[in-house]
Amino acid sequence: MSGHPTRQGWFSGEAVECNPLPPPREHPYRLVLLGPPGVGKGTQATLLCEYTRACHLSTGELFRAAKCQHAPSPAMLLALDAMRRGELVSDEVVISMVQERMTCLHCPGGFSLDGFPRTVRQARELDRMLAESDLTLDAVVCYELPLEEIVARLGGRRTCSDCRAVYHVTANPPAVPDVCDQCGGALVLREDDHPTAIRRRMQAYRADTAPLIDYYAATGKLIRIEAVGTPEAIRARTVEALHALMGAVA
Ligand code: AMP
Repeated sequence: MSGHPTRQGWFSGEAVECNPLPPPREHPYRLVLLGPPGVGKGTQATLLCEYTRACHLSTGELFRAAKCQHAPSPAMLLALDAMRRGELVSDEVVISMVQERMTCLHCPGGFSLDGFPRTVRQARELDRMLAESDLTLDAVVCYELPLEEIVARLGGRRTCSDCRAVYHVTANPPAVPDVCDQCGGALVLREDDHPTAIRRRMQAYRADTAPLIDYYAATGKLIRIEAVGTPEAIRARTVEALHALMGAVA
């Protein structure tokens, strides 16, 4: 995406500033995207960032990138095992990973966090990390969808093994079956999109992540969005709700 922030700071895992830095905003958007696996948070994060010009920061994407590292640390190997099984990675590992990337949370361009926080403990840590720089979240967008639809979406999802572009066998098929339209890479079913892993991920969501809805509702910053319709329609609904909550600040 031309002119889009590079997310170098997020992927490098060090306190480096991106070059170029995202253009500073008078009021950058600082968002958290919540919702069960398969609801389309990643797609929405990408679409929303085209609008807010903030970075899409996904912890799941960091774990998937770590799978390709030559010598992952013992803690990362445990994390990757948990991910393959469809379980949550431990709070300690995820929190320290985000802490190493604190520069991204303080970025003048803002951020859309996708997949973090996933537990109340992670949410408290995020509040603490932001408060250290007198920052707060602007909004928490929670995408909602009936369970049966989520299972159908996840089972049909295919991800490019090279560029990570996401397709769906019926809702968003590639021009040539199993081949990425963008880079020609092979499309694969993510390990954690296999049926057993999907069930575990849904259990983890209900037990650990759903309580975050009450946590954020209490702050008055929670926006609930029905994740039905085309990705563009969902994005338009989200932008409208953000405006209603925050005013037109972009
Ligand atoms: P996602 O791409 O957000 O669906 O994340 C893929 C997998 O990465 C999850 O099923 C978890 O195993 C792991 N993961 C990502 N983010 C977190 C988090 N904040 N806390 C715990 N586990 C996470």
